[in-house]
Amino acid sequence: SDHALQYPVSPGDVDWNTHYPAFAASGKTPEFADVGCGFGGLLIALAPLYPDTLMLGLEIRVQVSQYVEDRIAALRATSSAPLPAVSEGDAEPGASSSTSKPYQNVSIVRANAMKFLPNYFTKHSLSAIFFLFPDPHFKARKHKARIISPTLLAEYAYVLRPGGIVYTITDVKDLAEWMKTHLMAFPLFDYVDQETLREEGKGLILDAVWNSTEEGKKVERNKGEKWLACFRRIEVPREE
Ligand code: SAM
Repeated sequence: SDHALQYPVSPGDVDWNTHYPAFAASGKTPEFADVGCGFGGLLIALAPLYPDTLMLGLEIRVQVSQYVEDRIAALRATSSAPLPAVSEGDAEPGASSSTSKPYQNVSIVRANAMKFLPNYFTKHSLSAIFFLFPDPHFKARKHKARIISPTLLAEYAYVLRPGGIVYTITDVKDLAEWMKTHLMAFPLFDYVDQETLREEGKGLILDAVWNSTEEGKKVERNKGEKWLACFRRIEVPREE
């Protein structure tokens, strides 16, 4: 339950500097949100690929979110960015600024994302939101507990900027159909195929969505099927 959790009243109350000290002077806020990030595989994969983009995982389980926090702290403490190729006339090789150290751009909060997403993210602040292997809640009476629902889609549309992408993947076919049906029925989301996203340079993100999460790797080991689907937050609501 949530009562032990303290939530910011609004995104302005979140001190992002404590999450991303290397970006304290930048005024940046998170642009990628991994909802139900589990053990953090996606974020850890994406952080070095988009070193200037702030990313936040939201995870409801105490131990799991603590694990991710520790994992990020360890990565920050021990990793160094690959040295740039040295060419003649370069400054001292390895002399790097703080932001060239990897994993400064990734953080996590323990939060119930189904209730408190707008407490963390301002309107149109996200360019990507991830729902990777969300809990399926198989029974019909539990469907309201699913992370994709008409009410929650309005919140996701609010925090996503026009042009932003919702990435979904699951190994549960029924849930894949559920997510796709609801997202496509919502007037602010359009289905977007993977080829289009790759042409836009989002191939690395798609690869990470497919391969990098702990749940995705488990499905892979068990030779399970995966269904990946993406949706674009459009500017003008579609007329029905
Ligand atoms: N995305 C990760 C992956 O692919 O490895 C984890 C998938 S796991 C099946 C689903 C995760 O969502 C769990 O870690 C669970 O604790 C988390 N979760 C479920 N409901 C949540 C909620 N309302 N807010 C935040 N996290 C939630």
